[in-house]
Order: sequence, then C-alpha cells, then structure tokens
Amino acid sequence: MNEHMQIILNKIKEYKKIIIFRHFRPDGDAIGSTKGLAAILRLTYPEKEIYLQNSDFSDYLAFLGKEDPPLADEEYQDALGIVLDTATHDRISNKKYSKCKEIIKLDHHIPVESYGDYEWVEENRSSTCEMIAAFYEAFKDELKIDKEAATYIYTGMVTDSGRFRFREVSGETMRLAGLMLDQKPDVDTIYAHLYLKEFHELKFEAYVHKKMKISQNGVASLFVTKGMKKKFGLSNEAASASVSYMDSIKNALIWIAFIQNDDGSIRVRLRSRFVTVSELAEKYHGGGHACASGATVYSKAEAKALLNDADALLKEYKEKNEGWL
Ligand code: AMP
Repeated sequence: MNEHMQIILNKIKEYKKIIIFRHFRPDGDAIGSTKGLAAILRLTYPEKEIYLQNSDFSDYLAFLGKEDPPLADEEYQDALGIVLDTATHDRISNKKYSKCKEIIKLDHHIPVESYGDYEWVEENRSSTCEMIAAFYEAFKDELKIDKEAATYIYTGMVTDSGRFRFREVSGETMRLAGLMLDQKPDVDTIYAHLYLKEFHELKFEAYVHKKMKISQNGVASLFVTKGMKKKFGLSNEAASASVSYMDSIKNALIWIAFIQNDDGSIRVRLRSRFVTVSELAEKYHGGGHACASGATVYSKAEAKALLNDADALLKEYKEKNEGWL
C-alpha cells in the first residue's frame, strides 16, 4: 500500500456521492477502470451514490455495458470526482468534472499536467486497471469485489498491456491479473469480443496492407481518408484500429496511422517498438506512452512533417542502437 492509496480511500469514505470520469474516445482501460472501480465501490458501500458520467462511448467495448444517464449540473457540487486513465484535463470526456467539490486524478500515463486536488500517477504501471486491482488488493479486507468488477478490470489489463506483452508488464501485473482471475471472469467471452471482427473490417484490413507505405528508415504509415471510411462503412473507431494492422513489420520500429476526422483535422496514432515516440507526439499537440502515443495534425503538410520527424527519429535510433528487429 502507498500513501496515495490511503488518501484516496479516506476521501472515498468521506463522501456520500462519487462521480467517476475517464478520457474521451475510451479504450478498454478507460472503460474497465471506471466501471471496475464503480463496481467495487457499489458493492462495498451500498449506501453511497456512485455514478459514471461521460459524454462519449465505444461500440467496440459495448459488451462491457452502459454507463449512467446524465446527472443535473447541481448534482456535481457535493461530489468527489475521480478521473481515471486521463493525463490531461482537455482529454476528460465530461467537462463538468470540474464542478465536483474535490477531484482525484488516478492515472498511468506520463505525467505532463496536474489537475485535481489529489493525484496518484504511476507511469510504469501497465494499465490504470492494474492500479485499481492494486488498490483493491491493498484494502481487500475492507473492499468487496465480484465477477462483474473483475471482468471490467481484467479486460482493461488485457487490452492496455497488449495482451500482457508490453514492457510495463511486471510480476506484479501478473499477480494482480491472477487476483482478478480468481473471481472467474468469463475469459472466452471477453476474448471473443476483443478478437472477432466484422467481415467488412477484415476487408479493410486487407486494403490497409495494400495501401500502407514505408519510409526510407522504416516508418510504416497509412492515411485513412473520410472517403475510405465511407467506402468500407467504418466508424471512426474501426478506422482507427488500422494502426495495429501495421504492428508486425520487421525494421518498421515506428508505425503511424493518420485518420481524417469529420471536421477535417487528422487524428494521429503512433506506435513503436524500442523507440520512444511520446516526445514526437507532444510536438504535434499530443502525448501518451513511450511506445503508444496519440496526436492531432491539421493539414496533410503537417502530417508529412510529422512523418519526416518520425523518420529522422528512427534513423537516429538505428544509428545509435543495435539488436532491434
Ligand atoms: P491512441 O492512439 O489515441 O490510442 O493514444 C495512445 C495513447 O496516447 C493513449 O494512452 C492515449 O491516452 C494517449 N494520447 C492520445 N492522444 C493524446 C493527446 N492528445 N495527449 C496526450 N495523450 C494522448
């Protein structure tokens, strides 16, 4: 147990109403950690009011179930707000979070900005869900968990760690995952939801493999236009998944998907092996983790500039290092 955990538990005990938030465009960790914490708190403190208040959702993760209907603005004033898995205030899905009486930030991203009255940030954790599992473990004589809560938390641990593949995965990650598995979540169903694809999404994957490019020093990239999304009948979320279709090319230590948003701006998803790309993302209005970051660019010229920077970064990496694949 660490001092942050104790402060957070004390704050949770102090409040009758707790509202839980996460980042927009939620992934498995954002949804898993918020729903997992909410489930633990509802089981442990049935007398408290616990709400999940967010303004967007994910089709892909719809199997984890709904969040709560919107609360009236005045409901926030006497609540403790807990924001999970969100590095910066501008990425919080529900902007009303700031109306809460006090705010806790609990996150595993590189800390680029402080918000909130209390913070527990551990950038070496493989997921925020892992932190929720650690929080549960620290107070397991006091907190309650069940199969449903463990399903949310385990799903986030699985997805954010790349199926327990990324370098942040530690012995502690696996022990905490084991603690969740003790609750017997239905792993067959979880993995079916995570892996099965629509027919048209597989067709799009084949198209991506045909269209992707590789730069001189090995940056793989793909530009998904609004027209391509329309042609394949893709949601923004399905189009954005294209980044992972480029994740296993030898020599391509950096791979980047540019996805044109409906307003013309371009979402950039950067992924890498060995090379740190978060600083590159920060240069282009973004941030994230060493090997998984996001950014936004506002023109094709800016996208090209980002690609050139990525190529230069990879060139430098390859000159200074050996043993990469
Ligand atoms: P994405 O490609 O959007 O899944 O982002 C990869 C990682 O970078 C996630 O952990 C995001 O939370 C983080 N990230 C994405 N966009 C931004 C941004 N604009 N600022 C800070 N972090 C970001």
